[in-house]
Parts: sequence; C-alpha cells; structure tokens
Amino acid sequence: MKALKSIRGMHDILPESIHVWQHLEATLREVVEGYGYHEIRMPVVEATELFKRSIGDVTDIVEKEMYTFEDRNGDSLSLRPEGTASCVRAGIQHGLLHNQVQRLWYLGPMFRHERPQKGRYRQFHQIGVEVFGLSGPDVDAEMLAMTARLWRRLGLNNVRLELNTLGTPESRQRYREHLIAYFEGHREALDEEARRRLYENPMRILDSKDPETRAVVAGAPSLMDHLDAESRAHFDGLCARLEQLGIAFEHNPRLVRGLDYYTHTVFEWITDDLGAQGTVCAGGRYDGLVEQLGGRATPAIGMAMGLERLVALLEESAAAPAATAPDAYLIVGGDELAGDALQLAEELRDALPGLNLIQHCGGGSFKSQMKRADRLGARYALVLGSDEHAAGTVTVKPLRSQGGEQQEAVARAALADHLRTALK
Ligand code: ATP
Ligand code: MG
Repeated sequence: MKALKSIRGMHDILPESIHVWQHLEATLREVVEGYGYHEIRMPVVEATELFKRSIGDVTDIVEKEMYTFEDRNGDSLSLRPEGTASCVRAGIQHGLLHNQVQRLWYLGPMFRHERPQKGRYRQFHQIGVEVFGLSGPDVDAEMLAMTARLWRRLGLNNVRLELNTLGTPESRQRYREHLIAYFEGHREALDEEARRRLYENPMRILDSKDPETRAVVAGAPSLMDHLDAESRAHFDGLCARLEQLGIAFEHNPRLVRGLDYYTHTVFEWITDDLGAQGTVCAGGRYDGLVEQLGGRATPAIGMAMGLERLVALLEESAAAPAATAPDAYLIVGGDELAGDALQLAEELRDALPGLNLIQHCGGGSFKSQMKRADRLGARYALVLGSDEHAAGTVTVKPLRSQGGEQQEAVARAALADHLRTALK
C-alpha cells in the first residue's frame, strides 16, 4: 500500500520546532494588543466571489493560485489565500466598520497553489492586522512603528523597510495610461507574461523578474510624477513621521504589490538572510475596498506577515528561544508505588500552578528512568522509592546543577515549598 503523506507544500509543524512558533505568536500577540488591536477569527473557506471582487480577477492569486471547488450545493467556494478580504467581509456583515475605528488582528493558515520551495508553501500561516476608519498617514506610521518594535522584540535586526505610494485611484488611472503607452513602444522587448498583462494590469509589469523586461521597466515613467496633491501630501506626511520616529526606510518606486485593492501607501519588510523569499511582511492602504465589497466608504490599512519565513529567520539568526525543559521528572520505585506517585504528582500540581512535571509511567528500572529524566533535560529528578515511601520523604536530585547543589531527602509535606524555592 502506498504510504499516506501530507499534500505537497503543506507541512506538519512538529513538536521539536513548535516552541519557536509559540514564542513568535506570543510576542506578536503581546505587541499588537499593546497598540489596541483586537483579535478576530474568520472561517478558512469563503465564497469564491469574495476574493474575485477584492483581490482582483487578473491577479496571480485569483488567476492561478486559489484552491477553488464546488461544495455539495454547487456553490463555488475557495480556501482563503489571505485574510484581508474575509476581515472586511466580516466587518461589513457585523456592522463593525461604519463610523468607528477598528484595529483588528488575526492569525491562521492561508492557501495558495504556488510552486513549493524554501519559504513558499501551499498552506502557510499569516498574522495580519487591519485598521479601519482612519485616513491620515498617522496610522500608517503607527503600523510601521509597531512592526519595527516587533522586530526588536524578536531580536531580528536584519529586516529593512521598502515603501511606496500608489496614489489615489484617479492618479493611478492617469499613470496607467502613460505606462501602457510606454510599454507599447517597447513591446518586442517584453516577455510573454508582461505582454499578456499590458492592458489588464500594466503596473504588475513593474515588478517583473524577467531580465529583458526589467531593462524596459528601468526606463518606465514613474508614478511619482503623476501623483495628485492629496496623494503626494499623504506620502510626504508618512515619510516625515517615519523620520521623526527614527524608522529607516527606502522609497522603492517600483514596489506595486500583487493585489488590486491597494491605494496610497504600500510597503514590504525584507530580509537578505532568507534567499529569494525575503519578504517577511507586506501591506498597504486600501481605502476603496470596503465600499467595493458593499460597505460604506471606509479608509483602511493592513499588513500580513508570513510566519514560516519569520520562524526560519529566527532559527537562522539564532534569535529563537530554547525549547522549554521539564522542571522535574518523578521517578517511581516500583509498581506498588505507582498510585502513590500519581497522587504526589497531583499534589505538587495543585500547590505549584505552572509546574512542568513529568510523571514516569510504565515501570522500568531506576537507571532507565533516570536516563529518561536526563534526556528530557529535567532540572530535578524526584525519586519515590520504597525507602522514601517508608520514611515519608522524596529524594530531590539536581540534574542540571553547576556544582554546589546536592541531592537531598525532603519530607513530603515540605516538597512543594522546597521546589518552589529551588525553581526560582
Ligand atoms: P510573494 O511576492 O513572496 O509571493 P505576496 O506579495 O504574494 O508575496 P502577500 O500576499 O503580501 O504576499 O502575503 C504577505 C506575506 O505572506 C508575504 O510577505 C510572505 O511573508 C507570506 N507569504 C505569501 N505567500 C506565501 C507562501 N506561498 N508561502 C509562505 N509565505 C507566504
Ligand atoms: Mg505571491
């Protein structure tokens, strides 16, 4: 029989690396909640229409990356490829957006049928944040300051910020026409993909990876020259605030992002430590999306981070914390003491909430139990043998002591207090 395996590009996250994920998630949660964000949880499956209407029909995601299927009712559903569309849908549906400021965050798996490679998977995880109801550049700057704080908290110092503006839809429309005219004049040098996109989505040609197309792109007109006064003021305001906050950034006029819904600010946080898949966080403003999805016009900005890439970066930069080891391992002297040992373990857990205690189960020699305690990295072995049982004590044996700390017999009634002090 063929061995059953997980789907290509969809991975199990094993216990040996879970502590890095938990550290990352806990730090993220603490930082975003410190800025007043509230968690929202959305379904993993949505109507396909939602993504077509938000991300855009002629984007990579909707054209070729979505997991779309018909359910038993014949409705077209898709596994979510990102969280913003669902978050906006939920916000409209539950009346969270009108005339109020909302700061929301979410965490969960996203699905895209891409070519799997390092840092690029078919099921991956994002933490996303979205702010609704604020139109000025203050909140853009705040979001970037929050992200910079997050990198500091995680001990990641090799992540840089690239920033651009896409302007208002009107200035973008004007720019689009100039861009099409320019690319038409260089049609023969464009790759096939760029030609196909020429009239559908010409701005995506700006971030083409094809060398010849890139040479054409180098001479393309810049959106900066076609910005209206409002767009210019928003962008200048953001840059000034970042400078005041001491947040370094590079203005990259070629940064356009792959989703249709962005307006004004777009940005990416990039590292050079992960090879080709170096963007660990990306986002931007999407002032038109709420209305586009049927709500009242609401300014909004958001971003999402790829957790797999951040985990890899933490591991690579040695900023990952060590796995937690048990505080104590309870060694049982014989089958007749098993019940007594279970009782002792429960008493200790009652007295010391948060104690990480592993009860030896399944018998075996003293030596083999001690070996297991050591292999797990326990700080103390607690031995309950027949001598201890008779004397009403437990032997506490330090396993990680740098000298000084001796093995000792502790009366059972005093054991919890003894451990509380020892584990400080
Ligand atoms: P890329 O240019 O790398 O394809 P994207 O523009 O498609 O990224 P977004 O939709 O902005 O990515 O998603 C935000 C973040 O989520 C990315 O910066 C990245 O960290 C992560 N991400 C996106 N797609 C994947 C994937 N297939 N596997 C792992 N992480 C991903
Ligand atoms: Mg992509």
